[in-house]
This record gives sequence, structure tokens and C-alpha cells, in this order.
Amino acid sequence: MAVTKVATTALVGVEALKVEVEVHVSRGLPSFDIVGLPEGTVKEGRKRIRAAILCSNFDFPLKKITVNLAPADLKKGGARFDLPIALGILGASGQIPAAALQRRLFLGELALDGTLRPCPGDLATALLCEKMRIPSLYLPRGSLGHFSLIRGCDAVFSDNLLQVTAEITGDATDTACKEDRQAVAEISRRLLVDLKEIHGQQSAKRGLMIAAAGFHSVVMIGPPGAGKSMLARGLSGILPLMQRQEAIEAAVVKSVALSPCDTAGVFCRPFRAPHHSVTLAGFLGGKQGMVPGELALSHRGVLFMDEFPEFRRDVIESLREPMDAGNYHLSRAWGQVVYPSRFLLVGAMNPCPCGFYGERDSECRCSLSQIERYRNKLSAPILDRIDIQLQVSRVGYRELQQQKSSQSSAEIADMVEAAAAIQRQRFSQELYPFNSDIPAKDLPRFCSLQPTQHKLLLEAIEKFQLSLRSYHRILRVARTIADLEGEKIIATAHLLEALHYRLGLRRFAAR
Ligand SMILES: [Zn+2]
Repeated sequence: MAVTKVATTALVGVEALKVEVEVHVSRGLPSFDIVGLPEGTVKEGRKRIRAAILCSNFDFPLKKITVNLAPADLKKGGARFDLPIALGILGASGQIPAAALQRRLFLGELALDGTLRPCPGDLATALLCEKMRIPSLYLPRGSLGHFSLIRGCDAVFSDNLLQVTAEITGDATDTACKEDRQAVAEISRRLLVDLKEIHGQQSAKRGLMIAAAGFHSVVMIGPPGAGKSMLARGLSGILPLMQRQEAIEAAVVKSVALSPCDTAGVFCRPFRAPHHSVTLAGFLGGKQGMVPGELALSHRGVLFMDEFPEFRRDVIESLREPMDAGNYHLSRAWGQVVYPSRFLLVGAMNPCPCGFYGERDSECRCSLSQIERYRNKLSAPILDRIDIQLQVSRVGYRELQQQKSSQSSAEIADMVEAAAAIQRQRFSQELYPFNSDIPAKDLPRFCSLQPTQHKLLLEAIEKFQLSLRSYHRILRVARTIADLEGEKIIATAHLLEALHYRLGLRRFAAR
């Protein structure tokens, strides 16, 4: 009897690799073996597959069944191979035509009654299909989402094994299970908090607008109740819309983590706000297979770290690699993966453990050594990597009375979008989209200064003992401020404003 082949994928990090399921059914004592480096969950699948085939009114062949997962040297985990193995058995035993399995790719976990359950990495798989020119991909219904991003590959969603066989053999009359692309292609911007609803805080809002426009990391420092969390959530609503490539990158990470996908928000940037008790494993990922952590899930979006110094030291220090490289490496027993991780870091912190250091109408109860210890939790290298440092104060009663009408998130978002468009045009030949991504070697080209400006900046660097990294970061922020004003050349005012944001935490820096 011939061997039936069914295509599917295995996951390595956030990448899907093609795996071929080869099924051979022959005479002999009834047995069911899976070879090709399967892990426990794959082997357990034998029981699910047998029950699902029987419950779908097919026969489970009482013969010698051998399943090989090729390539044999790639470790395979998860229940994702259930559906392709079941289809391979049906094909090899002549219950469905083996030809129906060609030029198609299948992915799905089976329940005992044949119902399909979604598995991680559906979008990564769709991308692979697009790349390998496999025209159709069969997935469990629960995977619906993100697929409006994919061109060149049709995703077909089914509820159970029987429906898949009906689809591929042409018995299906129900076209409703084809995804309605229009329904999920809706582009929307999620407005978590409208900045207009936050009273006062004009300078903080200005800082956040600049952070959003150039994708600059930012830290806010101020007493409890100053509205730092509200401001951070408001930032989400003014970020530039994601481009298709960015949306795909973010959605792939989400689908690998099996994070619930919201279909309307494919073009919304992620907003992650891990609690300060998060462990390093939860932050980086890699537990149970290769689930991405918070750092990867915030790719192309916002990573909000409230109570910044309260995070574990190793968690804070792990920010360094992604903040420099836009990705991070994870080595585990099963090998090494690289997760994409280009996020906009928003840190929020109190000025001291009690929160009231330096406030006008409240008294700080902390000792100097307590304050020192608190501030030292943020190392100089971490603070050095933050472009914009904002002081946020509580809004007094009088300021509330004199509240001027402030701009809405939609108005600010328009200005941000205009600045983002300028950057996209400027960097059309480069691999990066934002000013904060400009590598040091390209700075003279994109952020050139007049001799007097250069001198001024050098003097400031010397006076405030700033690092070379600070120098570069000031230039990038100044570039963004100029872009927000539609200026081609960086003016001295832009440079001074950028310098001002660099010094916001100077009283704080660990020395
Ligand atoms: Zn205090």
C-alpha cells in the first residue's frame, strides 16, 4: 500500500516550519505508532485520533499503522498534528481520496468527538503557506482572526473532522465556513482613554505625543494619584497606525501565544501591562514549549511597567537586549529561539517609596537611605536607554478650575500620524520605520546639526555628565520634535526640548 502524505507545520519560536505527515497502513497485527521525534502530547494524540475518527462515522483501520513526521530531526510537540494524522489515516485506508490532501495544509487538535480545537501559530502557518505557495490552509474555527493580513493563501475554517473531509472532497454545500474577510478587515483604533479626559498635565501629554510620534521609550515620575496609568493608557490611543508588515509581525507572536485575537484590532498596537510581580520566565517566555512572554507580546506596541522599580532586578535588566536590538534570544534545553521585541517602553514610578518626595502639600516619610535604595533599583544603563523622562505632578484644585480645553486623542493622533508619514518617507530605503530606530552611523545623515548647535549639545553633555548614548538619543528625539512641526532642519528649540526630556530624571539617576 502506498504512503499518504499530509502537510502541516511545527513551531520553532514564532516561526512555522513545514512538516510532512507520512502515513502507512499495512497488513499485520493492529498497531498505531508515531515516529519522527514526537513529544508526549503528540503520542497521546493516538487516543484522540482513534476516537475522533470513529465518532465521525469513519472506520479506524484494524491494521498496522505507522506515522512518520518528517523531517525526523526536528522535535515536535503539541496536539497540532492530530488533524493531519487523522486525515492521513483516512487517506491511506482509502476512505477519502488521497489526492484531496495535495496542495493543502492542515492544522488542528482533535477532541474525542472529532471537534477541532485551535492550536498556536496559526498565523505563522498562514505566512508559511503564502511563502511556499500552498493555496489553502485548513484550520479549526476558533482560529478566526488576523487572517485579513494574509494574501495568496485561503484560510478555511471548520468545526470538526467531518466538515474538513467534506470541504476537501467537495461535498460541502456550506460556504459559510469560509472566512468573511470583509468582517475582519475593519481597521479601528482602540481608544482606551481619551487624553482629553485627563485634566491638566499639558507637559506630560506633549512628552507622550513626542514618544508616540517617534516610538521613543518614556518614563513618568510622580506621586500616586497623578494619573500616570491613565496617561499611559491614553498613549495607546495616539500611536501611529501599524503598517501591514508590523501588523503581521505582532499578530504572529499573538497567535503563537494563543492570545485571544480581537478581529477588529489587527491594526491596533498591542498594549501589555504586566504586574510588577512577573517572573523572568513570564516576562521572556519559553515555558511549556515556546510560549512568548510579555516582551515578545508587546512587539510593535506598548510595554507599560507601572511601579517600575518594584519589578524584579533580573526582569528590569532583561529589557536591555530588546531595547538595543529589537529582539531577544532565549536558550532552553530544547534549543535557542529569537523573539521579536521592538516595543515602546512606558515606565511609571513614584519619586520615593511613600510617593510624596518633593510634593508641595504632602510630606515624605522616607529616610534618605530608603529613597536611595528605591532609586538604585533602576540601573544607570537602563535609565540611559530611556529617551523621554517626564515629571508628572498632581493637579491642584485651582488648576482644575482653570482647565483650558485640551486636545482630544483623535486630534493628537492626527499630528502623530503626520509625523509618522514623514518618517516612513525618509526611511523608505531603510529597514526601520521610526526616528528612535536610527542607528548611530546614520545619525549624521538624518539629524545633522549646525556647528553652534553641536557645540551647545557638547557643553550640555559635559555639564550634566551624560553618556554618548544620551547624545544619540537627544538627537533622535530632536528629530521627532522637528517632524511633528513639519520642519526639515532641526532647530535649536527642538534640541533644547529634547535635552530637557533627557534631564527629567537626573535627580534620580543612580550614581
Ligand atoms: Zn517618601
